[in-house]
Amino acid sequence: MRGQVDAFTYDALPARVVMGAGKRRDVAAEAGRLGCTHPLIVTTHDQTALGDDIARQFDAGSTTLFAGAAMHTPWDVTQRALDAAQSARADCVVAIGGGSSIGLSKAVALRTKLPQIVLPTTYAGSEVTPIIGETRDGQKHTQRTLEVLPEVVIYDVELTLSLPVALSVASGLNATAHAVEALYATDANPVTSLMAEEGIAALAGSLPRIVGSPQSIEARRLAQYGAWLCGTCLGTVGMGLHHKICHVLGGTFDLPHAQTHAVMIPHVVAYNAHAASHAMARIARALNAPHAWTGLHKLAVELDAPRSLEVLGMPESGIDRAVALIMQNTYSNPRVPDVRALDHMLRQAWKGLPPEPMD
Ligand code: NAD
Repeated sequence: MRGQVDAFTYDALPARVVMGAGKRRDVAAEAGRLGCTHPLIVTTHDQTALGDDIARQFDAGSTTLFAGAAMHTPWDVTQRALDAAQSARADCVVAIGGGSSIGLSKAVALRTKLPQIVLPTTYAGSEVTPIIGETRDGQKHTQRTLEVLPEVVIYDVELTLSLPVALSVASGLNATAHAVEALYATDANPVTSLMAEEGIAALAGSLPRIVGSPQSIEARRLAQYGAWLCGTCLGTVGMGLHHKICHVLGGTFDLPHAQTHAVMIPHVVAYNAHAASHAMARIARALNAPHAWTGLHKLAVELDAPRSLEVLGMPESGIDRAVALIMQNTYSNPRVPDVRALDHMLRQAWKGLPPEPMD
């Protein structure tokens, strides 16, 4: 906050960020800057046409398309992509898609040391983090290493126009949650906090407009800008209770990633409300709301965002197990989690009831 700066450590992450409508057509030029001509292009099955489009920028026969990316980066998919990269003698990886495609790109880069050019099509933020989560033998392992940080990120707003409204809302709230937790992180610093507040404001300002006009380039551009800032926060400082809860719920009950974040964030902010007053004031200011948690809840209602874990497919009988898992190796959080409060919070969220600030 202006007027006072405490001691801090700030690890800036290297990345070249190119933002603009139509910039997806610059992939071959960006590859050329890296000295690369033979990319492995990774995406999901649904987004194969986008991968084909990128391939046409390169000389015939010099690209390999792998359109098998899947949620949570399963190891068998990575092995097949690694085989494809090796037999094609790829010299870089190009990922086009959401967190699933980018996760696969990171998994390949980790084992091959190939540079990455990524074109995000959601607001998840993985493209600017040195974090990779992979699933092997039914277990998700997450690690943080600069070896997976993409060298070039191309934000082409036109790639987000096809993102369905419901997914845009959930993905945008997923991004918002990164910035919210960055503001009360134990390793928060003034630069990341600036990005966090600006990122929350950009998403709170753009998501309602996207709901009304999904094809608005201006609104989509603002959301993508916010997603970049929020993703950068995720990559720079440690996350708290909210991210721990979402990892447990996603991993244990196979709940959809972005939607789980959307349901939980107002509840966790209500839980932390009295333990991080400075961060809460900045979140409230970004949301233009009297309180952080009421502002986030109001935004979720306005956007008709997912609000119930039951609707996402979680069994009520799973709440006890979820609480036990959340209590194991808790992430640092402004308020120490306790079993009773977590149980109450998850029951509220399961039923789709509004959050309650807990003393
Ligand atoms: P996703 O990549 O799984 O995409 C969801 C679905 O939407 C897919 O079917 C995809 O084909 C489709 N889609 C994506 N963009 C689209 C568009 N513009 N138009 C139409 N359809 C589109 O979803 P996600 O939420 O972006 O990513 C979730 C994954 O990313 C999870 O595995 C999560 O763990 C990971 N993640 C990792 C990090 C990190 O820093 N490592 C950060 C955030 C998320």
